[in-house]
Amino acid sequence: MERLLEGFDHFRRHVFPEQRELFKKLATGQSPHTLFITCADSRVMPEMIFSALPGEIFVYRNIGNIVPPYAQHVSGVVAAIEYAVKVLQVRHVVICGHSDCGAMKALQAPAKISHMPSVAAWLKHADVARYVVAENCPGLQGDDALKRLIEENVVGQLEHLRTLPAVAAAMANGSVSIHGWVYDIEHAELRMFDAVTGQFVPFDPASRKVPEATPHARFAMAMTPAA
Ligand SMILES: [Zn+2]
Repeated sequence: MERLLEGFDHFRRHVFPEQRELFKKLATGQSPHTLFITCADSRVMPEMIFSALPGEIFVYRNIGNIVPPYAQHVSGVVAAIEYAVKVLQVRHVVICGHSDCGAMKALQAPAKISHMPSVAAWLKHADVARYVVAENCPGLQGDDALKRLIEENVVGQLEHLRTLPAVAAAMANGSVSIHGWVYDIEHAELRMFDAVTGQFVPFDPASRKVPEATPHARFAMAMTPAA
């Protein structure tokens, strides 16, 4: 606890004064451009990884970066998504998994979490990834299997995300795009899901190209007034 309080004191005395104007502006409202859903893992710090300032990204973290499908489960994450899309009007929603994810390891060995009924029930929302890997890559073992499971979980949660009415409507008119990424802790690398190829591709800092994780907007043209 002392470490936390020392940290706050450092922030208040050294960081805050340098950004006083920003905090003053943020005191009365926020307008983040991105909703960032990632794992609660303490090694994944979105604001640090993306060099983001306060007010830039609306972060929601839970075990396994999971988004339960609509109507199946009313949860904090689903409420946060609805709020971010409808009220904050974020332009991007990112679901970001990470290397060495404990939740995905638990998914590989359900017997090890049988003494944690809440965790086991929560991870049922990621079962789709386990099935996809088991059915399609039965030969994968060890790190390769874990890596694939982490990726398939991101894809599965993207599918769940699209079942939320607020997200589906915003995607259809082109106001929101969704992205599926995996962050590598050891190498500071980002892999991004490309819906066109169905593969994860490494982020290229030179091109800064972000692949589409969704179909193109369907109603954007229809909503544009004729010239
Ligand atoms: Zn994790």
